[in-house]
Amino acid sequence: VKELLQRLTAVCGVSGREDEVRRMVEGLITPHVAAVETDALGNLIARKPGRGPRLMLVAHLDEVGLLVTEVDERGFLRFLPVGQGVPAWQLVGARVVFPGGAQGVVGQEKVEEIKELRPARLFLDVGAAGAEAARAFSGGTGAMASFAPSFALTGRRVIAKALDDRAGCALLIRLLQEVKEVPNDLVTVFSVQAEVGQRGARTAAYRLRPAMAVAVDATPSGDTPEAGRRTVALGQGPGIKVMDQGLIAHPKVRDLLLETAEREGLPHQREVSERGSTDAAAVQVQWEGIPSGAVSLPCRYIRSAGEMMDLDDLEGAYRLLRALVLTPLAERV
Ligand SMILES: [Zn+2]
Repeated sequence: VKELLQRLTAVCGVSGREDEVRRMVEGLITPHVAAVETDALGNLIARKPGRGPRLMLVAHLDEVGLLVTEVDERGFLRFLPVGQGVPAWQLVGARVVFPGGAQGVVGQEKVEEIKELRPARLFLDVGAAGAEAARAFSGGTGAMASFAPSFALTGRRVIAKALDDRAGCALLIRLLQEVKEVPNDLVTVFSVQAEVGQRGARTAAYRLRPAMAVAVDATPSGDTPEAGRRTVALGQGPGIKVMDQGLIAHPKVRDLLLETAEREGLPHQREVSERGSTDAAAVQVQWEGIPSGAVSLPCRYIRSAGEMMDLDDLEGAYRLLRALVLTPLAERV
């Protein structure tokens, strides 16, 4: 999965501009699925038909980034963060890249205190001498940049931008590649615009109307010095979602995941997050309600240029998802 992560985190896919990463995923899964399609919003949907109820797995293609709002006469770009929960201080000094290949670095105005450091006090410097060159480099107002690729392995840990949620995508790609026959009607969604409010997952769930859904997404870990209160740590296995800001995991889905992990002898962690959510939050309220849960991938420095995950956690998450996909759901949902 390392090679896959390196490839997937090398491309751009800021919310609403997921074309490049979608094309890459499509190329990787098409030979292994019965059908693959892209819907109106850009969600990539792959199917492996089976006799049982429809099971939807979802991981998001998009990543946080920057949207250029204006270009000043000296060639500095003002921007808005794309994606919820990107603190301004986390952007300072970050190297970013535009789809056309132009690069830049985020600078800040002089501030007295860190709480003054709002996105409005930051700017993007693409090395242009004036407004015209800056527009030509970047694309000007409306252009989107992502963090520059930063993939690295250190022991059993991986560091890269956009591990949230390319790691989830990598696990679903591997599932589609390696699992041949499925007892349930498996639909796999690589969703768009999750970082701006789970917009893609909402329309995909409406279209697919699954009997049950599981999101596979990153979650902030709480195992760094003086971290806030968090329930998961790196290296302790995948998280099984209990609750977050947008979802109380459906008890049947949560228990099915817990039982599956126990049956398979997989280390795992019960995950409760006060902030943030996943695509499962949007899926659960489609139609008359869709039982939903999530497998969470513990992540340090989430939504930064250098997110960190544990390869053993990812392997555990893969084995959990594989066991779930191979469990006949007929009498469960
Ligand atoms: Zn995510």
